Amino acid sequence: MALTVNSTLCPQNHRCPLLRVCPAGAITQAGNALPQVDPEKCAECGKCIKYCGMKAIYKQNV
Ligand code: SF4
Repeated sequence: MALTVNSTLCPQNHRCPLLRVCPAGAITQAGNALPQVDPEKCAECGKCIKYCGMKAIYKQNV
């Protein structure tokens, strides 16, 4: 399951709370920049998708 972080929906003006939500530590962020998801670490639990208030992270249509 590949995840997309949409740069149009993500305001990139705060530390992303998903860094703490992700149980696999798969989400990283440089400063307040667009968060990145490491597909190698992602456990596909879907917590980040549910938690993001901006609906900016979702499953990529492959
Ligand atoms: S789906 Fe789960 S493991 Fe994967 S990035 Fe989101 S919170 Fe982390």
